[in-house]
Amino acid sequence: MFKKPIILLGLCLTLAACGLRAQEADFDAWKQSFRVEAESAGVTPSFLDGILPRMMLLPAVVQSDRKQPEFVSTFGDYIARTISPKRIGQGRDMLAKHRPVLAQIAAQYNVQPHYIIAFWGLETNYGAHQGGIDTLNALTTLAYDKRRRTFFTRELIAFLKIIEQEKLSVYQGSWAGAFGNFQFMPTTFQAYAVDFDGDGRRDVVNSLPDAFASAANYLSRMGWRGDMRWGREVRLTKPLDWNDVHAPAPKPLSYWQAHGVLPLDRNAFPKDALAVPARLILPVGVEGPAYLAYKNFDIIMRWNKSELYALAVGLLADQIAYPQTPWAQPAAGEQISTDMVKKAQLHLTRLGYYDAQIDGQFGRRTKKAVRAYQARAGLPQDGYLTRSLLNRIQEEP
Ligand code: CA
Repeated sequence: MFKKPIILLGLCLTLAACGLRAQEADFDAWKQSFRVEAESAGVTPSFLDGILPRMMLLPAVVQSDRKQPEFVSTFGDYIARTISPKRIGQGRDMLAKHRPVLAQIAAQYNVQPHYIIAFWGLETNYGAHQGGIDTLNALTTLAYDKRRRTFFTRELIAFLKIIEQEKLSVYQGSWAGAFGNFQFMPTTFQAYAVDFDGDGRRDVVNSLPDAFASAANYLSRMGWRGDMRWGREVRLTKPLDWNDVHAPAPKPLSYWQAHGVLPLDRNAFPKDALAVPARLILPVGVEGPAYLAYKNFDIIMRWNKSELYALAVGLLADQIAYPQTPWAQPAAGEQISTDMVKKAQLHLTRLGYYDAQIDGQFGRRTKKAVRAYQARAGLPQDGYLTRSLLNRIQEEP
């Protein structure tokens, strides 16, 4: 049987001090049970002897984890933030500078160099912002915290194995435990990192060949097609059949072309590409820019499950490698707050279109509810929430 830790209440002078002491006792108890788990997962006892006393809690990490965004990221703002002219210019310089090693990596992993550079630019601004938080303690804090304990315990154990086996000093990274040039989580590192420079260690922090090849290996193993692009910007020249647009399976370019979805700068897709499957993406609704996304787009979303991120990788890669690629830079757009999304969710629930959580997050189910409402109201069913649409939904009797 476990005994409850005995806390000597008489010795703490304030309630806050007592709370702190109780947490220390609880953290020590957690360390003991974590030690058992780490040992049974293969971390050696002598390594744990050395590292356990160094493990500490970082309260700021929990604050970051709890923080709710005030606004939903809009495409225009996101693109303006992530694909600045400066970042495009630096990307072109980096592509030129690292071309020899990237060519070797492309030959081995079949991932085009400009995509590696685009991921690098988005993840850490080409290595400049790898994060300043002690990764060991960020992971310790999140593994101790109850919200996502199972997930982060696995990441922490993976991280301990990495620093033990790769003989790396303790990294700094993001508050969520991602580190290195491409911000890999420890389990991602374990599964996909490679030693490309041949020094016997996988070092995604200090060795660019290792970092580039690790990113390429990840993409390649996810199914990246080195002979294809991510997708392309298109223009809509006819009204769309919305049921087809939102059907889960992609449709060949020949279908889209027949329905008036055309390349930005031409009146037809190349004949040999007409069988390529594609999905239509409208990040700002029917009034904004439109994109057809190919298979590699889904691979980018395996890396980061955000359509905006995937579009940014594709658009940045295009601008880095092909400065002549036309693109309609999206306007900033109106800000949609999480409060507005909550209001929309409440009213869509009231009207019978939505039956999930009122959480202020504009996810798949909220989008589906917006589309259902738009269908009934005779509007284009792009599933995009604007202020005027919200007003209309609120005023529905
Ligand atoms: Ca290496």
